[in-house]
Amino acid sequence: AKQAYVRAKPHLNIGTMGHVDHGKTTLTAAITKVLSERGGAKYVPFDRIDRAPEEAMRGITINISHVEYETATRHYAHVDMPGHADYVKNMITGAAQLDGAILVVSALDGIMPQTREHVLLAHRVGVEHVVVALNKADGADPELADLVELELRDLLAEHGYHDVPIVRVSGLRALEGDPEWEASIVALLEAVDDTVPVPVRYTDAPFLLPVENVISVTGRGTVVTGAIERGTVEVGDTVQAVGIGDGVTAVVTGVETFGKTMDRGEAGDNAALLLRGVRREQVRRGQVLAAPGSQTAHRRFTARVYLLTAAEGGRHTAVVSGYRPQFFLRTADVPGRMELTGPGDGAEPGAVVALPGDTVEVTVELGRPVAIEAGLGFAIREGGRTVGAGTVVAPLD
Ligand code: GDP
Ligand code: MG
Repeated sequence: AKQAYVRAKPHLNIGTMGHVDHGKTTLTAAITKVLSERGGAKYVPFDRIDRAPEEAMRGITINISHVEYETATRHYAHVDMPGHADYVKNMITGAAQLDGAILVVSALDGIMPQTREHVLLAHRVGVEHVVVALNKADGADPELADLVELELRDLLAEHGYHDVPIVRVSGLRALEGDPEWEASIVALLEAVDDTVPVPVRYTDAPFLLPVENVISVTGRGTVVTGAIERGTVEVGDTVQAVGIGDGVTAVVTGVETFGKTMDRGEAGDNAALLLRGVRREQVRRGQVLAAPGSQTAHRRFTARVYLLTAAEGGRHTAVVSGYRPQFFLRTADVPGRMELTGPGDGAEPGAVVALPGDTVEVTVELGRPVAIEAGLGFAIREGGRTVGAGTVVAPLD
């Protein structure tokens, strides 16, 4: 029989962010290794986090990797994402749902473009708490590290992050078992425990889980995974798949987290739900599983959209009515068309075009219906980069 998950400590979602090669995945592996020696984790090696390329080739869209661990006071689910595009997408759409972030900065390289972008993005999507892991401190000149630290404080303050703990660590040396650097990982986690407060969860709302992955398990049925956004779910509950195609209604016959069974999944948990009598192809990524009747799918909606500037990684040129980018809403990725209906706070009154840096009112028509509600955040992407961040004003039809 499977082990049961005991909800003895508050659960939080955190993740690494930062420039490519600054050591996010190494640090993630090091945290699990150091805590495994203290009874708080199962060690997850580097190449289990940075998923093997074969998995991607088999067509499973894995762009977010979760590990779990415990400190003395908390249970954490920690996400590590392989590439910059995955950060932008998962953070703007809210798929990553971070209560706090560990910004990984190499003390050898200092602030790099993706360091800036991730700080900007974290602030924009409402990540309120950041802790810096000043990594590769094993190889860095301490005076150079002091300079990087000063620059980091400026960058963080520019985006409203004050009194951010900056902890000098070496993910690599800790992974190799060097006691001095193992202690740096413990210090980093203490800073996370102290800095990131336990968030208020929407457990009283109707159940909602954006579908991340659907797996067929021989002899058991179809398993749907994702982070519970709102509400709670128990064995015996009925859930409905909403969006993309025709949605099935099914009874939940199992709830698990990180391979352990749960009596009840709650908002904030990463859950795997076993569904009775459902075939794998009846549920898919991009749908939501919801309490029946609580969510509706729409193709059209009005929204307010901010167009990223070129410096933020956005377009260099204007957008006109009839623009056809790709829309990312929770885990859904659908083509659509956008009409400009009015200027927001940035654009000139009466503007028929919107420039990078403008905020505009738009009507969106999606290629397929998706679960939409007022206040939902979404990302607009084109040619592999994010060009806009939007918020739904109202669903239409
Ligand atoms: P990511 O792209 O941010 O996930 O970076 P990785 O974890 O893949 O690390 C990139 C490279 O930096 C690898 O060659 C690591 O071995 C190296 N690296 C990571 N952490 C450290 C560290 O603390 N010290 C040193 N010297 N190298 C490190
Ligand atoms: Mg990595």
